Amino acid sequence: MNQRVNIESLELLLNDKALSSDHKAIIKKVIADERLTPEEGVFLFEQGSLAYVGALADFIRRRKNGDNTYFNRNFHIEPTNLCVYDCKFCSYSRLIKQRSDQDAWEYTMEDMMNIVRKYDGQDVTEVHIVGGVLPQYDLPFYTELFKKIKAHRPELHVKALTPVEYHYIFKKAKVSYEEGMRLIKESGCDSLPGGGAEIFHPEIRKQISADKCNAEQWLQIHQIWHELGMRSNATMLYGHIEKWEHRIDHLEQLRQLQDKTKGFQTFIPLKFRNQDNQMSHVAESTTVEDLRNYAISRIYLDNFDHIKTYWPMIGRTTAQMALAFGVDDLDGTIDDTTKIYSMAGSEEQNPALSTQQLVELIRRVGRRPIERDTLYNVVQDYSDVEFAEDKEFRGYISLPVVNN
Ligand code: SF4
Repeated sequence: MNQRVNIESLELLLNDKALSSDHKAIIKKVIADERLTPEEGVFLFEQGSLAYVGALADFIRRRKNGDNTYFNRNFHIEPTNLCVYDCKFCSYSRLIKQRSDQDAWEYTMEDMMNIVRKYDGQDVTEVHIVGGVLPQYDLPFYTELFKKIKAHRPELHVKALTPVEYHYIFKKAKVSYEEGMRLIKESGCDSLPGGGAEIFHPEIRKQISADKCNAEQWLQIHQIWHELGMRSNATMLYGHIEKWEHRIDHLEQLRQLQDKTKGFQTFIPLKFRNQDNQMSHVAESTTVEDLRNYAISRIYLDNFDHIKTYWPMIGRTTAQMALAFGVDDLDGTIDDTTKIYSMAGSEEQNPALSTQQLVELIRRVGRRPIERDTLYNVVQDYSDVEFAEDKEFRGYISLPVVNN
């Protein structure tokens, strides 16, 4: 489908007598590439059907990225799942007093370097490092780790730690955010992942993660990092106790910082999962709601180039559907080096997809598979790449997963 056909689908909507003038005013703004107001953002959540927001998001996605659908080859290091904080939604962490639990771990520097060495000779382009917050993983520890990784494999992109960790380790080291981020950059960290953002609004943040860095600190650390000429991502944990207004407030704060710095690459909505945490009584969002959230994020964040889903979190079939609702990035040919998703009850308990499988998954919904590096440089365009027949693989055209 080309851009012309895509516009025609919006023009058809404009002629739909059943659609209100408010819906039509938003369609006209989207066609004209005009920014939506926060009120219009809330309106989309309140009154935008899945088909309506999907049509708008797909139009914007095609205008920005065509059919390109990105993925990369990465592996994860999670230094520990022990944490000084106690976020209510967290299924992953254990308190320090649970140190002896069999599912708690604390990697040494050598353990982590062994993980890096395990990928020697493999085509990975990125190591993603994030985990719990503990005193022994301090500023000297992490700067040494980054230096060692770079000494061992200089071309490997180090994407590491969120403002939650940075706020803690800078405070402990008694350095300012500016000084701390400069040291982190000099030691070899190349970019920041988007975690720790949760929901910025204090009304919600104080209920779900009261003790870690607040919204201003999260945004400030990213701003300082961007001002050093570096890039980062942003997330939002949605689908728990927040209201539509809180989601739009979150997106609005990201949009405003992006106007200033242009340092964010990708926005990643993270679905709240209720397995084995202090919010297990809160129902999870439905697949329809997940798709609407991707779409509205795509529509609202007009200054973000990419919207990403972590396919292990929502499952590969929903990830495929998300490609029609504004998403243009499926993250990586991830293997089971991350436990963050599976411990929260994600769809994929042992996430692993080969390049061939991921490429096939993208092709089957008519999109163009592009392997990228962390900074969205094209590593390989897989549009015309033929793979040897995979006898095990039967494609991913399956019925939608029903989230219950
Ligand atoms: S979400 Fe992060 S900061 Fe919060 S308890 Fe879990 S690991 Fe710790």
